[in-house]
Amino acid sequence: METSQRTVLVTGGAGYIGSHTCKALASAGYLPVVYDNLLHGHEWAVKWGPLERGDIRDGSRLAEVFTTYKPVSVLHFAGLAYVGQSVLDPGRYYEFNVAGSLALAQAMREHGAKRIVFSSTCATYGSPEKLPIGEETPQRPINPYGASKLMVERILADFRRAHGICSTALRYFNAAGADIGGELGEDHDPETHLIPLVLGAASGRRPPLAVFGTDYDTPDGTCIRDYIHVSDLAAAHVLALRALEHGTALDAYNLGTGQGYSVREVIDATARVTGLDIPFSACPRRPGDPAVLVSDATRAHQELGWWPSLSELDTIIRSAWAWHQRGSSPRG
Ligand code: UDP
Repeated sequence: METSQRTVLVTGGAGYIGSHTCKALASAGYLPVVYDNLLHGHEWAVKWGPLERGDIRDGSRLAEVFTTYKPVSVLHFAGLAYVGQSVLDPGRYYEFNVAGSLALAQAMREHGAKRIVFSSTCATYGSPEKLPIGEETPQRPINPYGASKLMVERILADFRRAHGICSTALRYFNAAGADIGGELGEDHDPETHLIPLVLGAASGRRPPLAVFGTDYDTPDGTCIRDYIHVSDLAAAHVLALRALEHGTALDAYNLGTGQGYSVREVIDATARVTGLDIPFSACPRRPGDPAVLVSDATRAHQELGWWPSLSELDTIIRSAWAWHQRGSSPRG
């Protein structure tokens, strides 16, 4: 690969999924240049290439970074990703996720960058009537987070048609787990994701888990999600980038296991893996949460050759537990 072909701009590369993907990119021979404002990302998580601090909405800072590194490809993780917060403060979500992504797309256009892999989400589907969820399922988001990501998918599709910027959207189901080598893991502040909160409840480092809703139309009344190991997601990004390079990428791929687990089942699996009791209490539903989200990722299997290998629920929890036991950041 030539220098500019090897260099990949990774927005949000200091974050959870972004940093795991930088590791995978480096293993595949790419040089990840991380662009991150470090609001939620961590400097210690940038280990495989340079870090450029900057806000995704800042067109002039983006221009500087494009001029310096001349990347042809971009992996775009930067954005806000808390469903509950997006319901309470939608403006912030449209600002960072939509206006920020538009600034990035404009910078790509101005600087001749030709390919982008976008971090989208199953939240763009809302509460679908049919399960599992394929890519053709109508996208009708029920929270501002999902709506903001869908708007970006649309912007990128329009830029593809008008300006020839090739793009693909990876619609993640629930990212979870930690790097098996122990170099990286989930470290959000605030933490709102189920698995780290269950682990915190198990270790006593966090309060008992609040189970959001026990009256859903599911076998045990709690929400069902499709948990996918973060390193499996990272591997999918490398495959999607290669597909863009070869001109074979489709507009979107679902990334999940196709297997759903309820909140209760995650609690039980965590008790099994850790050997500890998990204190929890039943609480009201969290606004914006659909009852069941389970993927059909056949397209990613067939077109990208992507198969999750670390996403058994116990493997996910074991890796997250190993990371949790290493303590709090900064991590070396
Ligand atoms: N959840 C919960 N208690 C918590 C955090 C999450 O019961 O403290 C539930 C949440 O309602 C959802 C599932 O766990 O059904 C996964 O939530 P998470 O925030 O991890 O991911 P999301 O599905 O919102 O992307």
